[in-house]
Amino acid sequence: MKVKVFTIFPEIFPGFLGYSLTGKALDEGKWSLETVNIRDYATDKHGSVDDTPCGGGAGMVMRPDILGSALHANYNGGRLIYMSPRGKPLTQSLVHELAREDNLSIICGRFEGIDQRVLDAFNVEEVSIGDYILTGGEQAAQIMLDAVIRLLPGVLGNADSVVDESFENGLLEHPQYTRPIEWEGRSVPDILLSGHHQNIAKWRKERSLEITKQQRPDLLQKYLDSQKV
Ligand code: SAH
Repeated sequence: MKVKVFTIFPEIFPGFLGYSLTGKALDEGKWSLETVNIRDYATDKHGSVDDTPCGGGAGMVMRPDILGSALHANYNGGRLIYMSPRGKPLTQSLVHELAREDNLSIICGRFEGIDQRVLDAFNVEEVSIGDYILTGGEQAAQIMLDAVIRLLPGVLGNADSVVDESFENGLLEHPQYTRPIEWEGRSVPDILLSGHHQNIAKWRKERSLEITKQQRPDLLQKYLDSQKV
């Protein structure tokens, strides 16, 4: 997968994506990263990329001409995403969809956001990582990319580890345990030490349903509805 990021802070990349599984995958060429510094397309000597909002109000807005030039010069097809709190929510199913793309271009906003005209002109897709406001799209882009890259072929050691995870089957994951078997008077549930795979699978499914009911009744409802059809 070829990733291209439009940002005024290229030095933030690859950031934490340079570590662990995503970093190894980057070194191995399972994905590539190119950053485009929007500021390189500024037209004045201060390199300004923003201006005050038309109609008044607080903050600054990223200018369409500067970002537009950066896009005209560097965007060459594929999905074009603007990280934005107004966007469609990033879910594990959207992550799977994005993991199938060959090219991903991502625009990181700063300040109060981006002039609407550039979003319209390039038919930009907006994606949000949650209902809260960050200072910049760079953080959001790295979170989205982290979720996408770990699904690329050969990135996770054990391909099975994806299947059971939270959200993959519409439920939250069952609790996990490892050694030592006894810790500060607490033991690992006996069933997990029984070696009886069917019983273990049944126990995990039950815990998974229970935890989802407790923590995310909205997810459980969706899951139960999907089981009916
Ligand atoms: N004024 C905007 C928020 C701007 S925050 C509004 O109210 O909608 C500055 C930048 O941070 C945005 O341009 C966007 O790129 C990024 N950002 C902030 N919160 C985000 C979120 N929840 N998901 C994705 N990107 C976000």
